[in-house]
Amino acid sequence: MAKTATKEAKKEAAPDEAAPVGAGRLVTALPGIGDRLAEILAKLGIHTLADLLFHLPVRYQDRTTVSRIGTLRPGDDAVIVGQIAIAQIAYGRRRSLICKVSDRTGMITIRMFHFSPNQKNNLARGRWIVCFGEVRAGGTGIELIHPEYTVYERKPDNPTEDSLTSVYKTTEGISQQRLRQFINKTLADEVPELVELLPPEVLAETSYPPLLDAVRLLHHPPPDISQAQLLEGSHPAQHRLAFEELLAHHLSLRKLRLERQDNNAPSMKPKGALKNKFIKALDFDLTDAQKRVVDEVIADFKLKQPSLRLVQGDVGSGKTVVAAAAALWAIEAGWQVSVMAPTELLAEQHHRSFKAWFEPLGLKVTGLTGKLGAKARREALAAMADGSADVVVGTHALFQDGVEFHKLGLVIVDEQHRFGVDQRLALREKGVGDEVVPHQMTMTATPIPRTMAMVFYADIDVSSIDELPPGRIPVETVVAPEGRRPEILDRVRSACEEGRQAYWVCPLIDESDNLQAQAATETERQFTESFPDLSIGLIHGRMKGADKDKVMEKFRSGEIQLLVATTVIEVGVDVPNASLMIIENAERLGLSQLHQLRGRVGRGADKSACVLLYKSPLGKLARDRLAIMRDTNDGFEIARHDLHHRGPGEVLGTRQTGLADLKVADLARDQDLFPEIERIGGILLDEHPENVELLIRRWIGGSTDYGHV
Ligand code: ADP
Ligand code: MG
Repeated sequence: MAKTATKEAKKEAAPDEAAPVGAGRLVTALPGIGDRLAEILAKLGIHTLADLLFHLPVRYQDRTTVSRIGTLRPGDDAVIVGQIAIAQIAYGRRRSLICKVSDRTGMITIRMFHFSPNQKNNLARGRWIVCFGEVRAGGTGIELIHPEYTVYERKPDNPTEDSLTSVYKTTEGISQQRLRQFINKTLADEVPELVELLPPEVLAETSYPPLLDAVRLLHHPPPDISQAQLLEGSHPAQHRLAFEELLAHHLSLRKLRLERQDNNAPSMKPKGALKNKFIKALDFDLTDAQKRVVDEVIADFKLKQPSLRLVQGDVGSGKTVVAAAAALWAIEAGWQVSVMAPTELLAEQHHRSFKAWFEPLGLKVTGLTGKLGAKARREALAAMADGSADVVVGTHALFQDGVEFHKLGLVIVDEQHRFGVDQRLALREKGVGDEVVPHQMTMTATPIPRTMAMVFYADIDVSSIDELPPGRIPVETVVAPEGRRPEILDRVRSACEEGRQAYWVCPLIDESDNLQAQAATETERQFTESFPDLSIGLIHGRMKGADKDKVMEKFRSGEIQLLVATTVIEVGVDVPNASLMIIENAERLGLSQLHQLRGRVGRGADKSACVLLYKSPLGKLARDRLAIMRDTNDGFEIARHDLHHRGPGEVLGTRQTGLADLKVADLARDQDLFPEIERIGGILLDEHPENVELLIRRWIGGSTDYGHV
């Protein structure tokens, strides 16, 4: 589904229904805005008058006082008023129009490289001029280059503004001034768009200003306001808007949860014999955290409403067995289960694990990936459709058209954050319209802080596996410059000779990255040449699925000692005997990616090591990232840094496209507002349900489809 199409649908859906808040008035309702200008405004995300009002200034200029020329310093933004002493064309390196302006305190040069004959004539000696611009140091004293200016015959009476001047983000085809005029015009009349939707008791306890006041203030801040505060985004008027916007998103998710609960789900209440048998057969005990999460998930399945639970747990915390236990619960109750993984490699691995676990229990496990031949695919589809397959493990190929289940009761999605929004939407829709909607359990290694989860995962439940299996020895991480590659390669070789296995990761294979990254293929060729005694394998995303499988199988069995890989092995791959990983060009990878990659080692009883090789010079951010990786193995800690560096928008971005479109709020800046949002959201839902819909419509538009993800 095209993202833009959805958005337009949203905007168009609004007008008819939205009379009460006027959220539907389109910009064309304003005199002076026709279709052409509307198109230009649309590029700024402005479709309705509400959008226009929430198009807040990116910064402000102080044009409220006139500066004396004699006091100006380079870097000042200033309004000056003076008389033109000279205006002439200078033929230096570049032809320019030079105009000297003086007041009683000093002289300043105005320089323009582009000018018309009219402009030159207008700037006649003896006339008065009011300029606004940034003062620079020039060859012969201070200068203003291409300032905004107005010329007067006589000394002007009132050359300044009463409030700070707003500077907006604009786009080609609409000037700063025009945009400002349209906003001012909208604000000057009745503004149904800005009807107050926060109930008085909420306003009273939060001490937020009323909406209309807040919006007016931000477009026209009084001169005595703290500009620093405004620029920082910490003015109460800004908090008020950000709060309301975040609240609207939160409410839309809570409504989704309520809507989901209107559907029927299979209420599963088996004895649990299969699950218990499986757990008993494992050659380890579940950790307490795993047991707790299995219980939480199963409690969901007993309900008559479709559940949606996110299981978060650091890499290596053992999410797969939790998923398997959950699957067995559903199967014993007579339902089919689908397990979806983001890569073929991981799907294959899960397919193998589930087969090894479930076939001894007399169950049928089917795989469905893109690489299946036509016949195998047909058979897999048939087994799903006639109900003979108990579990189907696959990639998103699982959810293409033509895939039907006989009795799907549970959908498990591994590494949920890796799936695109569209894929997850398609997944949700699988159940919609059917008699029963399957339960859904998603898993991720990217944790989000609790307060953020309460706000932005309000439609789902979250469980944490906050404990690693016992006996895990933390991976020792070393950061080294590329110059040490030969020495490290030697170490890898001797480790392999001692019976250990290693990954050598070359982050690449995308042609566009070729310049910097080392081609895995080339690396493998070199290694094979230099170490004829070692068994070296190669795996990358361009290989056929079956070839990838073969390589992974050989690595798993120990036949391959050193596996040269791209980041295809990033998620999920589980080969406990591998205890050494080298990542080249580590400076180019993000924290969560590095953490995921490193999570491939440290899974067995041996002490593991990870070497992060980097190319100098290192930028500050890259150096910080590598230092964090060296200093901690804790996924929560790493996620915290990741949130801090990349911002929650990017970290959460794949979950909710809506958050990428925030008009006013900034997830990183406004985190202090989170804790109150859940509570006040509850007040609105309970006591002012009529305002909930209006808030959602004001901030998100008519549709909340995106939230189904
Ligand atoms: P992740 O949470 O990263 O998906 P996996 O499910 O791949 O982790 O599990 C990592 C490894 O730990 C696997 O080899 C798995 O068999 C093993 N494992 C899982 N749970 C336990 C446990 N309770 N004790 C020991 N090993 C475990
Ligand atoms: Mg996993």
